[in-house]
Amino acid sequence: MPSSQGEKDLEALRGQIRAVTSDILKKVQERMVLAEQVGEVKSRLGIDVKDEKVEQEIRQMVIKQAGETGMSIEFALRLLNVLLSESEAVQEQKRPQQNNKAPRQTHLGIFQKAKQLEASGRRIIHLEVGEPDYPAPAQAGSALAESFAQKKYHYTDTRGIPQLREAIAKKNRVGEERVMVTPGGRFAVFAAIASLVRPGEEIIAIEPAWPAYRECADFIGARTKVLKTTLESGWTPDLKELESMITSGTKMIALNYPNNPTGKVLDKKTMDRIVALAKGHGLYLLSDEVYSDYSFKPFESVHAYGYDKGVIVSSFSKTYAMTGFRVGYAVASADLIKKMAKVQAVGVTSVAEPVQLAALAALGADPSRNVELMKRRLRFLSGKLKEMSLRFVEPDGAMYVYPELHSGGEDMQLVERLLERGVAIAPGSGFGDSYRRFVRISACRNEKEMEKGLAIMADEVRKAR
Ligand code: PMP
Repeated sequence: MPSSQGEKDLEALRGQIRAVTSDILKKVQERMVLAEQVGEVKSRLGIDVKDEKVEQEIRQMVIKQAGETGMSIEFALRLLNVLLSESEAVQEQKRPQQNNKAPRQTHLGIFQKAKQLEASGRRIIHLEVGEPDYPAPAQAGSALAESFAQKKYHYTDTRGIPQLREAIAKKNRVGEERVMVTPGGRFAVFAAIASLVRPGEEIIAIEPAWPAYRECADFIGARTKVLKTTLESGWTPDLKELESMITSGTKMIALNYPNNPTGKVLDKKTMDRIVALAKGHGLYLLSDEVYSDYSFKPFESVHAYGYDKGVIVSSFSKTYAMTGFRVGYAVASADLIKKMAKVQAVGVTSVAEPVQLAALAALGADPSRNVELMKRRLRFLSGKLKEMSLRFVEPDGAMYVYPELHSGGEDMQLVERLLERGVAIAPGSGFGDSYRRFVRISACRNEKEMEKGLAIMADEVRKAR
C-alpha cells in the first residue's frame, strides 16, 4: 500500500499512463483494421501497396501536429514510420491471393528455384544472377593454399588483417583506420544501415534498386522511402523530388552506381547535387560501388567528395569474380568504421583469414580483361534485345540490361515460362514494385550460352505479343 503522498501521486500517474497506453493500443488496432481494408481495396484495383505521395501527406500532417503540440518531431516521425511499416506489411499479406498476380520474387528467389531444378537433373542457362563465369585470379587460389600450409587460419581483427586494410587504404588514398574488410559488400551495407540508422528512422532508396537496402532497413525496423526513376528519364533521379522527400526523420540516402539492375552511371553534375543535398541535410550517403570497375564511362567515387558521412561499399565479388569467397569492404570516416565494426563483431567476428589473404593477393591481379569481356557481352546482349524490339537504356556499366516488356506483359509470366524452358532471368519487380513490366538479364555467361537462352526468350516474347 502506498504510504507517503509522493508514492500515492506516483501510483496515480502510473494509473493514468496505463490508461493512455491502453487507449493508444486501441487506436493502433483501429488503424490496422483500416489499413487492412485499404489493402483489400488496393488489391481489387490492382494498385501498388506503397504510395509515396500519400505517405508524404501524412508525414507532413504529423510534422505539423508535433510542432504545434511541442512533441519531438523526430520521435513523432519514428512512431509514424513504425505504423506505416506495419500497415504496409498487413496490406502486402493480403495481396497475392486476392490479386491473382504471382507474388513478388527477387532474382535470388529465381536463382534458388533454378538451382533446385538443376539438382533434379535439368539444365539451366543462368541469366538471372550477377555471378561471373570467369575464374578468380590464380593468385587468390595460391594464397588460399599457402594460408593453409602456413597455418594462417585464425581469428583476425574485426576490421580485417592489417596488410589487406593497408592495401585497400592505399588504393583509396586514406588511412587504414578508415577501412573495414567485410564478408561481401552485402554485409558492409548491412553494417552501415544497422549501425547508423535507428528503428523508425528513414532511408531513401532510388528505384529500381538492388533489394538489399530496403531489406536491411526492414530488418532493423527502419523505413525505406522510394524515389522512383523511369526508363523515359534514362533512370536519372528527379532531384527536386529527392529533396522534397527529406524530413527530420531521414538519415541516409542509398546510392548504387554503376547501377544494378539498370547499368546507369550518373553524370558528375547530378552526383554533385546529390552529395550537396546529403551534406546540406546532414544525411549519411551510402554509396554502393561494387560495380565501379565495370564502368564504361568516367566514374567518380563518392569518396572523392571527402564527405565525412559518406560510406563507400566495394567488393571482390564482381571485379575479381570471387563471389563465393565472401569478401568486400567499406571505406568511411574512422568514427563510422568504429560504429560499423561493432555490428561486424557481434555478427561474424571477422572475415576468414585465408579469404582475406586471397583478397590481398587478388589486388595484385589486373581485372581489365574481365571488364573488357563484360563490356563485349553487354554489347552482345543489348544487340539481341534490340532484335526483340524491347526498350531499354544501354548500360553505362555493371553486368545487366533491364528491358521493358511489351505492353501487357508481366515479368513473372515471362520468368516462369522461361524457367520451364531452362532459362533463368530475373523479374523486374524484384527491384521495385513499379517495375512489373521489366526483367533483368545478366551478362555473366559466355556469348554462346547467352545466345541459346536469348533465342528462347525471343520466342516467348514473340508469342506474348
Ligand atoms: N551491391 C550490389 C548492387 C550488388 O548487386 C551486389 C551483389 N549482387 C552486392 C552489393 C553484394 O555483393 P557481395 O556481397 O557478393 O560483395
